[in-house]
Amino acid sequence: MNKELEFENSIKNILEYIGEDTQREGLLDTPKRVRKAFDFMCSGYNQCPKEIIQKALFTSTNDEMVVVKDIEFYSFCEHHMLPIIGKAHVAYIPNGKVVGLSKIPRVVDVFARRLQIQEQMTEQICDALNEHLKPKGVAVIVDARHMCMEMRGVEKICSTTITSSLRGLFKSDKKTKDEFLSIVSASFQK
Ligand SMILES: [Zn+2]
Repeated sequence: MNKELEFENSIKNILEYIGEDTQREGLLDTPKRVRKAFDFMCSGYNQCPKEIIQKALFTSTNDEMVVVKDIEFYSFCEHHMLPIIGKAHVAYIPNGKVVGLSKIPRVVDVFARRLQIQEQMTEQICDALNEHLKPKGVAVIVDARHMCMEMRGVEKICSTTITSSLRGLFKSDKKTKDEFLSIVSASFQK
């Protein structure tokens, strides 16, 4: 049996397990639709952040902080496979090179479109930029809601989790870190 069919059968089993009639009209194509949705939502496994960054590097004398904030993302927690919905805020200080701005949300998606825990995703985005852009510093803040807490009734609805990862000047220089925080803190979800 091919992988696609195996996946669709697994979804059929889930539908049966929760008490559904897999033969009713609305559910006939559901296994296939779920598979296609997962192919997209988990497409990060097939993407390489190094390639995305290195194809869009440009020489620059700019050494001021570059901030891309409010990058919306959708991920899944690896413990329950339920959505993590949030925003990432990314900053770096160039060291002779800048990266095309549209690539930063793409790097976020490479790691968001996988099964994740928020802390790890934050680090992975930070490390990828640090390694392939080699800036003087990089900072990532992720602010997200976890459906595995909200839908299962574990935590108060709308509580958000904030994680951060800092490298280089953002770690060693308090002024740089404070400037970044003051730029992005207004964006934190209420
Ligand atoms: Zn979870």
